[in-house]
Amino acid sequence: MATDLLEMTEEQREIRNLARDFALKEIAPYIADWDAKAYFEPSIVKKMGDLGFLGMLLPEEYDGLGVDTSTYLIALEEIAVVDASAAVLMSVHNSLPTQMILQFGDEAQRERFLKPMARGEMLGAFALSEPEAGSDAAALTTQAVRDGAAWVLNGTKSWVTSGSHAGAILAMARTDSRDDRKGARGIGTFIVTPDLPGFHVGKKEDKLGLRSSPTVQLNFDNLRVPTDNLLGDPSMGFIYAMQSLENGRLGIAAQAIGIARAALEAATAYAGERIQFKTPIREFQAIQFKLADMATRIAASRSLLHSAARAKDRGENVTQASSMAKLFASETAMFATNQAVQIFGGYGYVKDYPVERLFRDAKVTEIYEGTSEIQRIVIARELYASD
Ligand SMILES: Cc1cc2nc3c(=O)[nH]c(=O)nc-3n(C[C@H](O)[C@H](O)[C@H](O)COP(=O)(O)OP(=O)(O)OC[C@H]3O[C@@H](n4cnc5c(N)ncnc54)[C@H](O)[C@@H]3O)c2cc1C
Repeated sequence: MATDLLEMTEEQREIRNLARDFALKEIAPYIADWDAKAYFEPSIVKKMGDLGFLGMLLPEEYDGLGVDTSTYLIALEEIAVVDASAAVLMSVHNSLPTQMILQFGDEAQRERFLKPMARGEMLGAFALSEPEAGSDAAALTTQAVRDGAAWVLNGTKSWVTSGSHAGAILAMARTDSRDDRKGARGIGTFIVTPDLPGFHVGKKEDKLGLRSSPTVQLNFDNLRVPTDNLLGDPSMGFIYAMQSLENGRLGIAAQAIGIARAALEAATAYAGERIQFKTPIREFQAIQFKLADMATRIAASRSLLHSAARAKDRGENVTQASSMAKLFASETAMFATNQAVQIFGGYGYVKDYPVERLFRDAKVTEIYEGTSEIQRIVIARELYASD
């Protein structure tokens, strides 16, 4: 039994059990097939919404659960233990689009979008990245030009998680003029809905892992977005996105911990069953040390994550803490899944056991919502922030 170093309240235990039961019943039996076919099952969105998992951080007045950040992350870890693809859907939806509308939207936007999003009737997505703008996201070139009661958007968004199934996509586009570029202060965030003229879903990515999470390009071809769908200030959209990514990174850290925990659980069980040299391999110290290192890094990741979550709920600045949690947890996911494959030997390299999928799923946690290199830049920059 691995220690989790978390003192959970009764409510947190109930929500964790709800998440576990949901994932085991509705996802676990199908996950190998969905992964093989790169299939996304749309019905899980409504099921997650019915249980409250898509409005966890939203106040009850918008049909949300209104729980604290730690409780949300406990549920997210539990989903990720079973399926990292469902976890990223849940993380993006809860941390980015819904939080952005809640924090930076007006009351009409909150009324229109948040209730259906919390109930799982409308899935959210976040479209910042572009083919030429990844880590340097402020270099994005999708252009928004005001035309009467609409903004007209032209450009391509890449890597949009859930983009093919989302009803509300928070998309960043330049609102400054081509002759007077203002960098990060010349970008707006728009609530794009797929019914708008000029909206097209482009290429679906054929990925290494997270194969049952659809990741797509979106093409905006004279996309007419009503001015009512502009979020807040037209020059502040990039700042809103960066602030929201601090929440997002906590979610990705929870996802990474879930993947790592699944690897540890699978490896612990296998090491007890697998006999070599007439001995269960768990008796070999080389195997014990791997399991010990996995368990220790998972516990340390969880401690970092939940101390960041508590600091966030106290209203403190968590720029550095969220990057630390995301960096350490994602490297733990990669470490733990690598060790798990090793403990399984040849059987870790084939699809008969889940560790092969976990190994593939883990990698992306070091890439999205800021690569590990970008997290280290943020952490180091914060060391000098008060100078
Ligand atoms: C499965 C998946 C889902 C995604 N979902 C979304 C989504 O929903 N919405 C969205 O907007 N984006 C999404 N992304 C995009 C993701 O956030 C980017 O892939 C990520 O930010 C990295 O950008 P890039 O791929 O262009 O790599 P690049 O920025 O080109 O980086 C390439 C390499 O250079 C390194 N590098 C770059 N700049 C520096 C620097 N200054 N110092 C040191 N090293 C540096 C990087 O760390 C990396 O190792 C997703 C990506 C994937 C793979």
